[in-house]
Amino acid sequence: MLAFALKQIARPLCQRAPVYLSVRGQHVASPAVEDDGPWTGNDSLAQDDPEMWDLLQKEKDRQCRGLELIASENFCSRAALEAQGSCLNNKYSEGYPGKRYYGGAEVVDQIELLCQKRALETFDLDPALWGVNVQPYSGSPANFATYTAVLNPHDRIMGLDLPDGGHLTHGYMSEVKRISATSIYFESMPYKLNPATGLIDYDQLEMTAKLFRPKLIIAGTSAYARLIDYTRIRKLCTDIKAYMLSDMAHISGLVAAKAIPSPFQHSDLVTTTTHKSLRGARAGLIFFRKGVRSVDKKGKQIMYDLEDKINFSVFPSLQGGPHNHAIAGVAVALKQAQSPMFKEYIAQVLKNTKAMATALLSKDYTLVSGGTDNHLVLVDLRPKGLDGARAERVLELVSITANKNTCPGDKSALTPGGLRLGAPALTSRQFKEADFLQVVEFMDEGFHIAFDVKKKTGKLQDFKDFLLQDPETVARIANLRKRVEAFARPFPMPGFLDR
Ligand SMILES: *Cc1c(COP(=O)(O)O)cnc(C)c1O
Repeated sequence: MLAFALKQIARPLCQRAPVYLSVRGQHVASPAVEDDGPWTGNDSLAQDDPEMWDLLQKEKDRQCRGLELIASENFCSRAALEAQGSCLNNKYSEGYPGKRYYGGAEVVDQIELLCQKRALETFDLDPALWGVNVQPYSGSPANFATYTAVLNPHDRIMGLDLPDGGHLTHGYMSEVKRISATSIYFESMPYKLNPATGLIDYDQLEMTAKLFRPKLIIAGTSAYARLIDYTRIRKLCTDIKAYMLSDMAHISGLVAAKAIPSPFQHSDLVTTTTHKSLRGARAGLIFFRKGVRSVDKKGKQIMYDLEDKINFSVFPSLQGGPHNHAIAGVAVALKQAQSPMFKEYIAQVLKNTKAMATALLSKDYTLVSGGTDNHLVLVDLRPKGLDGARAERVLELVSITANKNTCPGDKSALTPGGLRLGAPALTSRQFKEADFLQVVEFMDEGFHIAFDVKKKTGKLQDFKDFLLQDPETVARIANLRKRVEAFARPFPMPGFLDR
């Protein structure tokens, strides 16, 4: 009888909205509702799949209680997440607006055109001179589509080497193996940092490029704390008649806010992710030039032919149906990126990164290149007798997330000397400079634990086991973790209200 009555109450309720029960801040899934009728697909995640719902709650909790310093991560807005988790997931629309292989695309056509328009506006681009493809599923597919558009198999490219701060997709190969598909299908020759300065070695790049004669040079980084000299790379590309591709995946938010120099005026092509400093839904964009590329000796204009090549490469060469839900989420984020609020956000990212750098330097830590001009710092822990792998592990145990990174001169990629720290995510949680000083205090404590344990242990696995087994160390970690979480949790979290 009681069960029957509950069912009568529960059914109409759950059809309107998911039912969440909150027990002293701990979320628990409401019990599944028995349903004898046809599968409506209208049960909430909590009702339909409590196991997955529970994992989502755990991840949400992890994000809220920890300090997120991974330089490529951010917290997307609720509005963009809403667009992404929407009915747009359901629509197939291979092709481009007005030229689809499926019916029913009149609304997604408008969404894609709106996203294109906002992408050009966000970076102040004249639609007569620039176009954009908003369909790439992420940054890596955007890069591969760009290569496929302008290169033939085995054509030559140059990008910053992965251990020096470049991205895998810029052509990474190890001494024994071609790793990135970019290096499998194209011939890649990396350029490097100057180990003495930690800055890109432009002299060496020029010298090698004139011998290697690549058809494309990539200007872009994933772990580089300084600005790129686009003017210099542009001149080189013009000299050797190479395409210049700027991959601004990490810094596109900073470029949108005009907080750092824009690559557009120098580049033929620009790719980016949308979920890093740009703070949007997870996807990729390819910008390409239109109009006049150059004027020959007789005064004849040579036009860019990138638009058809890029669009053909993304679809049908490499992708199928566009992720319309992601395109909508990106469009929402691009509107936000044009707002004064976003400018303020990025200004705060830069101030916070500087504060973090200054605090680390004042504690005698070494920064690759000596400082930062953007949203990240690269700490070289080797002078402190430590390495990035051990530091990363201890920070992880105290709810601080960062990632190990190679520094110039590193031999091992498994225990590299550096740690990459970025400010975008915590700045999205309203962290200010003083909060970052506290973050550095916590990290410093973590590094000391790592240092003390390293002295007492051997190999990395031995170190990791000791962290979980030595009672004194376990207690130190638990103590620090408690303070980190008590500090982090009260800060606001974009994207979800119920936490
Ligand atoms: C992150 C990144 C990418 C790849 O983006 P994914 O979305 O992870 O595929 C490409 N280039 C650079 C420079 C990046 O930092």
